[in-house]
Amino acid sequence: MRPFAYARATDVQGALAAARDEEVMFLAGGTNLLDLMKTGVERPARLVDITRLPLGAIEERPAGLRLGALARNTDVADHPLVRTRYPVLSQAIVAGASPQLRNMATVGGNLLQRTRCPYFQEPSFAECNKRTPGSGCAARHGYHRMHAIVGHSEQCIATNPGDMAVALLVLDAVVQVVGPDGDRAIPIGEFHQLPGDTPHLDTGLRRGELVTAVDLPPPAVPRSSYLKVRDRASYAFALVSVAAVLDLDTQGVIRQARLALGGVAHKPWRVPEAEQVLIGRPAAEDAWRAAADVALPDARPLRDNAFKVELARRSLVRALTTTAALA
Ligand code: SF4
Repeated sequence: MRPFAYARATDVQGALAAARDEEVMFLAGGTNLLDLMKTGVERPARLVDITRLPLGAIEERPAGLRLGALARNTDVADHPLVRTRYPVLSQAIVAGASPQLRNMATVGGNLLQRTRCPYFQEPSFAECNKRTPGSGCAARHGYHRMHAIVGHSEQCIATNPGDMAVALLVLDAVVQVVGPDGDRAIPIGEFHQLPGDTPHLDTGLRRGELVTAVDLPPPAVPRSSYLKVRDRASYAFALVSVAAVLDLDTQGVIRQARLALGGVAHKPWRVPEAEQVLIGRPAAEDAWRAAADVALPDARPLRDNAFKVELARRSLVRALTTTAALA
């Protein structure tokens, strides 16, 4: 591991002042960053510990619920308002990691976790455009069973590993950040980026910016759920996941649907074609199948992951069936 300096910030302005240098990184729960530092994937010259900043609250507000960036994943998933009003979020967090990890991991860190592409995670692999821009993409001609089926580029086919962010996408969450140029509010759908020609950039965060909170609008639609499909029953990253929100009228006709997929792209992936097909139809299996049929019109699977297209469609059907059956 590269030697690094350590400093503890006591207020947000102090943290921002300490983070002007490009070799500085913020340290929160450390559940991803410290692993990557040990293997040499991340090599900051200085860590600024932000765990003492007053950003850990979960607050009900007139405009919804504010999750502080340092709120622990366990506290968010177990919060009564999250469990009752935003069950898709609580379920996604619980599906994401073991209790020990959830006790340490934070809201902000969860959004910023790096891909688990094995070529990115292991520096002895020379080719990885995300870790070393311009070096190539070993996954394209190597192991890519877990990789993206939509939105990928010649430079990178990695997936976003998160579960929480998939739920936040169907909840229309907004990420609050502060930086040298002031405050910004970023819709969650614009927070993560596709790889394009800059796969080393996972998000649009600018240098020195700090995530301070995630805002959830009031839950007009409480009927929601999260489905995660993985290779084993124990904790693992998603082959495919589905976050589903449904609003039905008293006759069981679908008024609104919001659907997002995880495990299929470099960012959580909304499927608007499938959402539109559902509007005005009775909540029943033929509607779920119609939605699944039009989801992922731009799928471009790779040599070894075409199964994920069908898996995503079947997962949509199952997630919609489960969500519609909720009281
Ligand atoms: Fe690196 Fe992305 Fe290729 Fe994986 S898919 S080897 S992260 S460039």
